[in-house]
Formats: sequence, C-alpha cells, structure tokens
Amino acid sequence: MSTPAAVLADLEATLGPQAVIRPGPALDPYLVEWRKLWRGEALAALRPRTTEEVAYIVRHCGAAGIAIVPQSGNTGLVGGGVPDPGTVVVSMERMTAVRAVDPAGFTMTLEAGVVLAEAQRLAREAGRLFPLSLAAEGSARIGGVLSTNAGGTQVLRYGNARDLVLGLEVVLADGTVWNGLKALRKDNTGYDLKHLFLGSEGTLGLITAAVLKLFPANADVATALVAVPDLSATVALLGLMRRDSGDQVSAFEYMNAIGLQMVVRHGPNFTHPLPGHEHYVLIELTSPRTGAGLVEALSAGLERALEDGLVLDALIAQSHSQGQQFWRMREFLPEAQGFEGTSIKHDVSVPIGAIADYCTETEAAVMAAIPGARVVNFGHIGDGNVHFNVSQPVGADGAQFLARWDEVNRIVYDRAMALGGSFSAEHGVGRLKVGDVVRYKCPVEIGLMQRVKAALDPAGLLNPGKVVPSRME
Ligand code: ZN
Repeated sequence: MSTPAAVLADLEATLGPQAVIRPGPALDPYLVEWRKLWRGEALAALRPRTTEEVAYIVRHCGAAGIAIVPQSGNTGLVGGGVPDPGTVVVSMERMTAVRAVDPAGFTMTLEAGVVLAEAQRLAREAGRLFPLSLAAEGSARIGGVLSTNAGGTQVLRYGNARDLVLGLEVVLADGTVWNGLKALRKDNTGYDLKHLFLGSEGTLGLITAAVLKLFPANADVATALVAVPDLSATVALLGLMRRDSGDQVSAFEYMNAIGLQMVVRHGPNFTHPLPGHEHYVLIELTSPRTGAGLVEALSAGLERALEDGLVLDALIAQSHSQGQQFWRMREFLPEAQGFEGTSIKHDVSVPIGAIADYCTETEAAVMAAIPGARVVNFGHIGDGNVHFNVSQPVGADGAQFLARWDEVNRIVYDRAMALGGSFSAEHGVGRLKVGDVVRYKCPVEIGLMQRVKAALDPAGLLNPGKVVPSRME
C-alpha cells in the first residue's frame, strides 16, 4: 500500500500543483467550518476539475486507505464537511461546468461546483426558474445542496433539493463513475438510486453533476408582512391564502416578535414595519403569468382573514424593493441573534397541524427550565419546519448557558419526536447530530442505514463519522 505522501505526490504530478493544497494558510478555509464551531485537520485539500479526476482521486486514496471528506461551498450547519486527521478534503469548487441548459425540456445539467446563485441566474437567463433558495446561496454549491438535500424558503411550493433532481452523476467509493444523468420525468425501471445519494452527505458517493428541474420564470409577485394573533391563526391563514390565491403561495415564513426586534436592533437601517405584535408571517405569492393580479389576490385574502380574526394587521409591499426589504429582515434573523450573545439552535419539523401547539408548549417548557431565555422562533412554518433557537438571558454568562445545550436539545427534540416530527428538518445530520440519530431513529432504520453504508462504502472511506452511527454505538 502506498503511503499518503506518495499518493499526494502522485496526485500533484498527475492533476497539477493547483489540485493539491497542503497544510498551511491556504488549507485553512477547508478545515474551518464557517461559524467556527469546528476546526478539522486534513492531509490536504484536493481540487479536481473533472469527474475523471474525482474518480482518479477516489481510486488512489482508496488504495492507500485514505478517507475522503467531500466539500462544496462549505456552508453546512452540522459539521458534515469538517475533516478528521489523516483524511483528505475533496473540494468541488473547480467543477463548475454548465453541461446543458434545456429550456424546452425544463432542465439544466450542472456540475457539482456551480454556486447556487449562479444556477438560479442560468435558469433566469433561459427564461426559467430554479427555485431552490436559501440564505447561503451566494456560496453554497450544487453538490453540497444536493448531498444535504437542502431546504430553504421555497419548499412549500417546489419541494426540497431532492424534489428538484432528475438525474445524477456520482463517483462511487471504488472510483467507478455512475452516469445516471437522465433528464426523464418518468423512469420506472427499478430502484430510484439517485435518492440514495441525495441527502446522504457524501457518505455513499461523491455527486459530480446533476440534471435539475426548471420551472417557468415568475412574472408577477406579491409580498406582505402580516401580524397574526397566535400560531394557530398562522396555520389557518396558510390554508386560507393557498385557497384564495389559487395556490400561488410560494413562501410562508414565520417570525416571532423577539426575533424581529433583534433584527431591527442590529440590522442595517431597518425600521420595524409593524410594531406592537407577537407573531408575524412573511407571505409571498408568485406566478409565471404577467399581470396575474397577485397583489389584489393577496389583499383580498388578507381582508377576509382580518374579518375571520386570523390577521391583526398587514403591510403589502408597494414595490419590489419594499418586498426585498421584508426578505432582508427575515434573512438577517440568524445574524441578528449573534449580536445577542450565545444561542442554542434547532431545526425541527412536526406535522403542520401540530406546529402551533408544539411551539407554544415547547417555548413554555424552555422558559420554565431557563427563566429569562429568549426563544427566537422563526422559519418555514408552511412546511412545519421552524428554527427553534434559544438565546441566552440578557446579561447571563454565555458559557454557562451553552453548558445546558443537551438539556435544551432534549426539551426541543423530545417533544418534536413525540409528535412524529424530526430533529433535523433541513440541515442534515453531519457530525453534530449522529448522537440524535442513535437516540431518536428506530433501530430498524439505523440498521438499514448501516447496511446501505456497508454495501456502498465497505471500507468506510467516504465521509467517515458523519450521518451513520458506527456499529459500536
Ligand atoms: Zn431554514
């Protein structure tokens, strides 16, 4: 078996000096998770330009027993891309080819390193929409958003990343390339293998390219910030707006008063658009039809909701820029929370019908455990998914608050799981939540995951320690 040093020297000679980044300042960005929660260690970062180069890397590292940690934009939130000593990072950042854009077929085929915002732009240029949208879209890359099955703000209408993929190209653990780049809407010929790799966080194979679904570009949009009396009204309002708009609701994002106040306090020139309420929803309707009358539909729907007591007050954006301003406030929320000291963050989902009671009861339980804690609850309530974040009490000791991480997790997760929910709705498992997989997933599911992992990656060389609990646990 060749030594790691010999493998790296060979890769440098074969793929070029640009393809191998050795330890030193240049390697740092590949080791550090962007929130600085983890710092990893690696023999090197490898930067292939083609699928063949990825396969070459996997074959040669595999032969030397060197494990691989795939990385795209490195914007994950659960440490899935953080390497361990003795491993190599394989970064997709140089695999940015646009293999095809087919507006008539409503598809595009992109390599794993294309930045998500660039994918959106390519679709727009072709008169189409690629709907996947999330806060990190300026840095997140296609390979990462697919391998983590990313969610974001448009899931309500278009689904998760998983739902936006028709075909995949994947380098398997033995270096074989699976060309599954079919652009078919219908292909009922056995196991739908792409779904094994989507959401597997690089533990079963390295996604190198994908055929993505496109939709008609939006031509009309209406956005409103709405104050609602409570969380059950929020859920009822979603039903009403979906019906009254002809199902044109594309985003339905919740923010509580504490979160919105933090945004106004720390944001760049934000003024509170609707002060004096406890619960807020950002609603957006979109349509590919020019002059679809969405502002009228939104305003009529909100008026009916006001009569029904589901809405207390509302502000419909009078311009594109005002609508954008509402979105900036929503997107600034996680950053704003950072100015308020330490926080314990979650990404839970429950069935939509249970979300109101879940949030109310869980908030009460957290407050009872830690008086003065500030629950900053926000997110994709239309999907039953909220980021139930808890900020430290004002003036409290940050480290002491963080020491109660597990206790707060138990309160938040136990309740979600009891309702048939999830402890990770859209952020994945990575290294952060492997313990929660053991705690909350049923043994049958864990056993199946371990058997799939063993079948596809028998030597355990692909992103070890992530997602799948080892057989010991
Ligand atoms: Zn989210």
